[in-house]
Amino acid sequence: MISVSEAISYEFATGPDLYALCQQAAKARDNAWGKQLTYSKKVFIPLTNMCRDSCGYCTFVQSPDSPHSNVMTPQQVLKTAHEGAALDCKEALFSLGERPEERHQKARDLLAALGYDNTLDYLHDQCESVLTHTTLLPHVNAGALSFDELKRLKPVAASMGMMLENVSNELLKQGQAHYACPDKTPKRRLDTIEQAGRLDIAFTTGILIGIGESWEERVLSLIAIRDRHLAYGHIQEVIIQNFRAKVGTAMAGCQEPDLDDMKRTIAVARLILPDDISIQAPPNLEVEYGSYINAGINDWGGISPLTKDFINPERAWPQISSVAQACNGLGYSLAERLTIYDRFQHQDHKYLTPNLTQRVAALVSRAAHASRQLQGDIA
Ligand code: SF4
Repeated sequence: MISVSEAISYEFATGPDLYALCQQAAKARDNAWGKQLTYSKKVFIPLTNMCRDSCGYCTFVQSPDSPHSNVMTPQQVLKTAHEGAALDCKEALFSLGERPEERHQKARDLLAALGYDNTLDYLHDQCESVLTHTTLLPHVNAGALSFDELKRLKPVAASMGMMLENVSNELLKQGQAHYACPDKTPKRRLDTIEQAGRLDIAFTTGILIGIGESWEERVLSLIAIRDRHLAYGHIQEVIIQNFRAKVGTAMAGCQEPDLDDMKRTIAVARLILPDDISIQAPPNLEVEYGSYINAGINDWGGISPLTKDFINPERAWPQISSVAQACNGLGYSLAERLTIYDRFQHQDHKYLTPNLTQRVAALVSRAAHASRQLQGDIA
């Protein structure tokens, strides 16, 4: 692991210096993860697109005045889940706006019509329904949660996640990315990561780069994640996600991070974070995503053969076979993994309830079979 001051010194690394940094990170990745990259075959379940926050870059969120704002019904949830299972998906990614009922009457009304007075109770029951009626493993991405909320969701989710995004309080100020976002205070996000650690929840987090933070704040965000992992050992992966400027958002005119910035950040993340944390970058937000491999990633995250990326709907997922070819071209294979990484699966029910342990075990061989098929198809 490199020091904070060394990480900060790479802020302007470019040309041969960036190449050397990426080589160092790629070597660390090879030593820890070998010559195999992974992905999770998922179906996306956007349980509600209303939210009490209003991030300056978000196109997922819908105003309650919009005809597109909604809360999915139990029937819609199961229909999507069944369609995903039929395409051999293994993960049901529940991704949703944060506590919309605390701000919007429409959210309260839709939840009440379904028999609920809050989103998290409804989320719990929809995860349970997916577990009961399909083979999918729920992964919950519901934002900042308390100890009790995480504890309640743990038995119905194989893993959970929440992007830290950044530790900068500056981003909360008027005109900044997280203005008027009560759930985006660094304290709330860091508390959530910490409570997940206390509860032994296999957890995904990450940073969003290019939203107005400084390089030093980016490095300190990675350090904050590292420190919580060193305390609890529960961080399974860290996502390095690039901000994309989207039409119709407050940040539509802001500059996007370039490819060198992504590579620099991925490499520094690989060298700051402990080896057992997976480093992931989304392949659908950069045309030249294959170059992330040489910067040190070992995972592409969830890729859906069915649903679009509701957070970045204008950015289609690449075909899984295309991602596999990008890996093969650089001497790596591509394998399917489950939403909960291998090392968390067999720890005497520390991370999984007995029921979820059985469910996971039943999917392991199916994922391995799919990986062999994929390699055969592109060989
Ligand atoms: S990014 Fe998440 S928290 Fe922010 S407005 Fe969109 S849905 Fe809400």
